[in-house]
Amino acid sequence: MKNKVYLVGAGPGKPDLITVRGLNILKEADVVIYDYLVDKRILENAKEGADLICCDKLAKKGRYSNGFSKHQERISNLIVKKAKEGKRVARLKNGDVSIFSRLSQELDALVRNKIDYELVPGVTAASGAASYAGIPLTDREFASTCAFVTGHEDPNKEVSSIDWKALSKVGTVVFYMAVENLPEIVKELIKVGKPKDTGCAIVQNATLATQKVLSANLEDIAKRAKREGIKPPAIIVVGDVVKLGKRFNWLKKNKKIIFTGLSEERFFIKGVYFHLPLIKIEPMDDYRGFDNYLKNISDYDWLIFASRYGVEYFFKRLEAVGLDSRVLNGIKIAAVGDSTKNRLLDFGIKADLVPRNESSKGLIERFKKENFKGKNIFLPRSDISDKGLEKELGKLGALVTTSVAYRNVMPKDLPDLDLNDFDKIMFTSPSTVRNFKKRYKKVPKKVKIRYIGDVTLREIKRCRLRV
Ligand code: SAH
Repeated sequence: MKNKVYLVGAGPGKPDLITVRGLNILKEADVVIYDYLVDKRILENAKEGADLICCDKLAKKGRYSNGFSKHQERISNLIVKKAKEGKRVARLKNGDVSIFSRLSQELDALVRNKIDYELVPGVTAASGAASYAGIPLTDREFASTCAFVTGHEDPNKEVSSIDWKALSKVGTVVFYMAVENLPEIVKELIKVGKPKDTGCAIVQNATLATQKVLSANLEDIAKRAKREGIKPPAIIVVGDVVKLGKRFNWLKKNKKIIFTGLSEERFFIKGVYFHLPLIKIEPMDDYRGFDNYLKNISDYDWLIFASRYGVEYFFKRLEAVGLDSRVLNGIKIAAVGDSTKNRLLDFGIKADLVPRNESSKGLIERFKKENFKGKNIFLPRSDISDKGLEKELGKLGALVTTSVAYRNVMPKDLPDLDLNDFDKIMFTSPSTVRNFKKRYKKVPKKVKIRYIGDVTLREIKRCRLRV
């Protein structure tokens, strides 16, 4: 049996810049074969148990070595093999699928093997870089044409196929993969008559929290890039439109806020949120204990959900043991926080009690108004949640049973960040604070600290993030 292969553009980096269609395919795929440049956070949308394979792992000599064609062949072979096994394959490519992505080689393998495929476009790095630096790539006054050029041609080519003379007449020239060869590129452009004072912008890690923009004249850009330590991946924009970036760089005008929680970004509020999740939710290895509670859930008077992950894993396991929300009939349900309340609604449950104040004190004040004396309460929790809520409920005379529904772990591969680039950092739970401390040590003076809940504040003080 064969299956269709979807070649999907993942966008330039920021996880939510993938298209809706791309995301829907990713959610259903059995196998995801992804480029090393694809942000790992996008992969969290893949279904549980999907086989996630990074193309880098297939390379023996490294990406830019002359072993490239061999590397490409391995990728193509793997796609074909998985499709022939009947798997639903998503080939997730950085940026757009059709721009500097060796698309033909992969399609050739699919055609030769008579495997169906579909192409799903993505936001290319040039668009990502332009938007996030406030540079219009074309402009009625400054550029009626725009060219995308590789700065790293096939090393086996004897003569360059880049027509530099023709490029000198193009309004905006965007270079991909050009950091290494930047001095030569600049030399060629000046040689064919591009004015030395033409504007240039380098956008490194476009659209990500680590984005860096460097602007200079053509004449100086290579020197400046070296001095500033510009590294790939980066896009280089050459043309008069770059000057517009001074006026239109919306990112510079906004407050930049790091958001450390897992929930979606917040829209239409002041500032720009950069999502840096400092926690990761993972299932437990063994659910036997938890499942036993669920099988006897009707023994309980109250169910209290302290987080939306508690809700998610509760219903996942409920399904796993062959039950559904109907068994909750007659049980009262409390939700801490709006996102917990909303997640319950997704399962058709309207919480009976949602304390308005998310602080632990506010929570207990609200719970005091209920009669919990002698009531059986089931509280699904994470492996690291503190015992505060459980204890306080106990003091109100409740009989509390807690069971671990999921694990809260520190994500690997947290990026190097220049924290001084940001205006604020928002901590959403004590675990985000602890993990921050482990990875980044302290918050610079100029960066304001924001937090949700008094337990988070306590952890900020305990971890001494400022000293
Ligand atoms: N198919 C991709 C390009 C792949 S080639 C696309 O459409 O964007 C890899 C090059 O893309 C990198 O060397 C760099 O020039 C550019 N690139 C990819 N992601 C980038 C990012 N987040 N910021 C800047 N440049 C990026």
